Amino acid sequence: MAATQEETFKKIVAHCKEYGFVFPSSEIYDGLGAVYDYGQNGVEMKNNIKQYWWNAMTRMHENIVGIDAAIFMHPTTWKASGHVDAFNDPLIDNRDSKKRYRADVLIEDQLGKIEEKIQKEVDKARKRFGDSFDERMFRQTNPRVQEHQTKWDALHERYSKAMNEMNLEELKQIILDEGIVCPISGTRNWTDVRQFNLMFATEMGSTADGAMKVYLRPETAQGIFVNFLNVQKTGRMKVPFGIAQIGKAFRNEIVARQFIFRMREFEQMEMQFFVRPGEELRWFDYWKDQRLRWHKALGLGDEKYRFHDHEKLAHYANAATDIEFQMPFGFKEVEGIHSRTNFDLSQHAKYSGKKIEYFDPELNESYTPYVIETSIGVDRMFLSVLCSAYKEEQLEGGDSRVVLSLPPVLAPFKCCVMPLVKKDGLPEKAREIMRMLQLDFRTGYDEKDSIGKRYRRQDAIGTPFCITVDHDTLGDNCVTVRYRDTMQQDRVSIDTLHGMIRSAVDAKPLYEKCLQ
Ligand code: ATP
Repeated sequence: MAATQEETFKKIVAHCKEYGFVFPSSEIYDGLGAVYDYGQNGVEMKNNIKQYWWNAMTRMHENIVGIDAAIFMHPTTWKASGHVDAFNDPLIDNRDSKKRYRADVLIEDQLGKIEEKIQKEVDKARKRFGDSFDERMFRQTNPRVQEHQTKWDALHERYSKAMNEMNLEELKQIILDEGIVCPISGTRNWTDVRQFNLMFATEMGSTADGAMKVYLRPETAQGIFVNFLNVQKTGRMKVPFGIAQIGKAFRNEIVARQFIFRMREFEQMEMQFFVRPGEELRWFDYWKDQRLRWHKALGLGDEKYRFHDHEKLAHYANAATDIEFQMPFGFKEVEGIHSRTNFDLSQHAKYSGKKIEYFDPELNESYTPYVIETSIGVDRMFLSVLCSAYKEEQLEGGDSRVVLSLPPVLAPFKCCVMPLVKKDGLPEKAREIMRMLQLDFRTGYDEKDSIGKRYRRQDAIGTPFCITVDHDTLGDNCVTVRYRDTMQQDRVSIDTLHGMIRSAVDAKPLYEKCLQ
């Protein structure tokens, strides 16, 4: 991460804590690695993200329904899904710093560094040539770019092969050959690469024969697969149809840095879409498009997203891509879209001995449906929204402010009502307005400190509208509305407040964009 971006990220993390978005878990005991709690503002924003996803999935698609499965599942679930045997990451330790890393991440970072070098050349050339710059041509012909690109291609090919074969010795050799050093100790004193299972286990019950070993689910998807028949039959669902779910998942991540990007307890929003065999790649493209629309509709900037196709396909998948978002520490996965074939349902049929099939009345035949999965982390989504919203602005007169330009639909508070002074009947009038608005919107009330300070507090938590009640309000029934992003102020009638806020925070235009 470049120094300034690293500093910005640190400031975002500090801001999250200072303004009640995210706290380290059990902080009074010095926290717990990669576990975080959402505070009073964070939980509101997180709920808004979940609601936006849930409605986009279940309300906008008549053939998608939701469920809420338990976190504990029968242990055979994880045998069938392959997690007991294969949910592993390749880990490597640096003997000097005693720090642990994922071997694949070290190599991917190395690939990222080469990409950065290429990008620097491109940026330099763009500056030099101005409007006449032809980026494609430049990338194809510039010798320095070509040299970097050849290096990247070779490394990428070697890495993909090693990952596909899970060749641990080769992964280590790549790290050595590339001269990758530990960022802490700066040395190349690496251990061998080993496999590490990411599932947390605990025990359930206490019988004479001993308790049963159960796992904390590492993904919510399996709760959907084991309920496939229940939902299909009771909901009279016809293929193609989807089942959506939001819930906690747990992974004993080897390296858990970067704040809420990689946590050991996190939340997923997953949807499994069941289709006819042979139609899965068409639906895969459909869901790629749908999901990107959902992200872009928030208006964080279209250029901040890109697809990244998987180097290593899971053995059961026949297509997989990630939607990556430009975080301060580079483009990173926020969502995965996977074509999982009929692997999961077939495995559960095999391990449970139950027939898990769908009778297709149009084809007059039974089959095990194929599955397209969309899987997004709530916390990563939260982080991407926060990072793109965080701004430090220099104002006229030497003043500065920190503002979260959150999409209004996701902001914890939609508006805050403030009496100019704490007397003369102004607090009473302000509370009356608040009570009217809170029926529809999460509305704050603040009467402490100067009005300027109060505006700053609301800027820092991303409240789109501040509504100030002054002495004139009692006579003319008008208030001053101050807009978060422009800081412009307008005098408006109290009667128009509701309509104005509604049109700014309404999710309807976003859903319309998703559906286009
Ligand atoms: P990564 O390669 O970053 O470990 P993954 O490919 O294992 O992620 P998936 O299994 O596809 O992730 O999970 C789907 C989504 O769940 C991810 O896109 C991400 O948003 C979220 N997610 C996965 N692991 C974590 C985690 N440890 N902390 C927070 N979110 C996570």
